[in-house]
Formats: sequence, structure tokens, C-alpha cells
Amino acid sequence: KIGDSQIGGFAFYDQDINVHIAEKLFFESAIRKALLAEEFFLQYQPKIDIRTKRLVSVEALLRWNHPERGLIPPAGFIGVAEESGLIQQVDSWVLDAACKQAKQWQWQGVPMFKVAINLSAKDFTEALPAKIDAALKKHQISAQWLELEITESMLMQNVENVISIMKQVVGLGVSLALDDFGTGYSSLSYLKRFPISSLKIDRSFVQGIPDDSNDCAIARAIIMMAHQLKLKVVAEGVETQEQLDFLQNAGCNEIQGYLFSRPVEATEIPNLLNKPFFA
Ligand code: C2E
Ligand code: MG
Ligand code: MG
Ligand code: MG
Repeated sequence: KIGDSQIGGFAFYDQDINVHIAEKLFFESAIRKALLAEEFFLQYQPKIDIRTKRLVSVEALLRWNHPERGLIPPAGFIGVAEESGLIQQVDSWVLDAACKQAKQWQWQGVPMFKVAINLSAKDFTEALPAKIDAALKKHQISAQWLELEITESMLMQNVENVISIMKQVVGLGVSLALDDFGTGYSSLSYLKRFPISSLKIDRSFVQGIPDDSNDCAIARAIIMMAHQLKLKVVAEGVETQEQLDFLQNAGCNEIQGYLFSRPVEATEIPNLLNKPFFA
């Protein structure tokens, strides 16, 4: 692990570390430029209600169209943005863009649905509730249409503080989902204390359905536990009919994945409303 002090002190040890630092520095300045040059954009992936078979919400996913490197997926830069302290600026851009888009859909007269954005651990500061409130007011979006997806791992540091910030956010009327559930340090004792509305079963478990009996058992257990805690369950990364059948049978509430739709441009979303996604 390379610390900033080492970068400042030019403590280069070998070729690998050099490459790592060069990449990191490249991305840091490139992210700053991207924010100014409007190189970021959002795609939206539908979440389908398993009972109504219709779109109930969308997840906004960040995309970066770099002038020389082309399309860079979030896995290629979110980590650097987190390490370099730029993630708050990036996610503020996402918050603003998603609210702006929600307003555009409203103007088109389509019936509204929830829009979820992803947040990093580093976004969970005392400033977050006011930031969210300001974005909702700026775009005149009712808080009920905004959802925040938070990964489990972030919740383990400074838990009391995080719970207090979560409560303030929920107090605004925004809902919270626990993303990638099952991959972090499952804090089952904290789970009941987080003011969340839903759990998203991580794709790594969904992938093994229906052949891997352990993944099936884990998915079933998550669904049962979530329902006991009065939480909704979303399965992410659903790609096959067999996975859908299993999850439907197990009582999962919502489905997200390539089986129904890849992340798409905002303009495509209105075409996906009011149509059943499966028979
Ligand atoms: P995530 O929040 O768990 O998002 C789901 C990821 O799974 C997305 O990848 C999505 O495109 C992909 N996916 C959805 N359905 C399927 C499927 O059926 N099969 C497969 N193979 N993949 C599927 P993406 O867009 O590359 O994003 C990766 C991660 O980057 C996200 O995972 C999230 O943790 C992070 N991320 C994305 N946008 C943002 C953002 O605006 N801010 C922050 N902080 N993180 C973001
Ligand atoms: Mg997510
Ligand atoms: Mg996820
Ligand atoms: Mg995931």
C-alpha cells in the first residue's frame, strides 16, 4: 500500500510501484479535468418488481468517456477517486446529474419511479444530509424518488457516526439500500440498527444460482433474514431465467440484471415503463 508521504518523498522502490504511482497521478488530474469537461455521464439500469413485472426504480451508474482512453468503467477509477479525496466531488456530480435527469423524466410526464445513486464510504460525512437536501431542492425533486446505495464495508468504520448521518438522510425522506450484501464484514448486529429499506444480494451469490447449492442457500437465507427485518430484497446481476425462477420462488422482491436490461441511456427509460418484463 502506497501512502501519499511516500509519493511526496519520491520513495520509489521498484518498477511496479512506479507504474502504480504514475497511473494514480494520471487519473487524479484526469478526474479533475473530467469534472470540468463534462466527460462523465450516467447510464441507468432498471430494477424490476417481481410481482408487477414492471420497472420500479433505476440505478444510476457512472460512466467516463475519456478523450484518449475511451470509455472507462467505474472499477477503473472509483478506487483512485476514493484514495485521492476526489470521490466526494465525483459523487456530488452524480447526485446533481441524477436529480436533474429525474426532473427531466417528470417534465416528460412519465409516472415517477425511484432513482438510486451509489455512494462511497468517504461520502458519509456530516455535510452529506445538507448536500442531498440542497440537490433535491435545486431540482425540485421529492425525496421519495431518491435512494442511496451504500456498500456494507463502509459501515464498519465509525458506526455510531454513520448511523447518525443515515438517520438524518432518512429524515429527509430519502431511502437507503445496502449494496453488495454478503461480501463485506456482515455486521448482523448492526443491520437492525441501520435505517435501511432494502438489501441488495451481491452478484457473486446470484451467479452461482441454481447450480451451486451454497450460493442458493446463502441467497435464500439473506431473503428470509431481510424479510424478518422488514427489508426489501433486490438481487443484482441476474442473467438467466433459472436465476429468476429461483429468486421468485425464494420470495425476492426486485430483480436487476442483464436478463431484463443492461444499463441504458436516460432517453431509453421512458420506453421501458409500463411494460411487463417477463411473462
Ligand atoms: P454496483 O453498485 O454493485 O453496481 C452493479 C454493477 O453490476 C454495475 O457495474 C452494473 O453494470 C453491473 N451489472 C448489472 N447487471 C449485471 C449482470 O447481469 N451481469 C453482470 N456481469 N454485471 C451486471 P458498473 O456500472 O461497472 O459499476 C461497478 C461498481 O462501481 C458499482 O457496483 C458501484 O460500486 C461503483 N459505482 C458505479 N457508479 C458509481 C458512482 O456514481 N459512485 C460511486 N461511488 N460508485 C459507483
Ligand atoms: Mg449499486
Ligand atoms: Mg451492487
Ligand atoms: Mg455489486
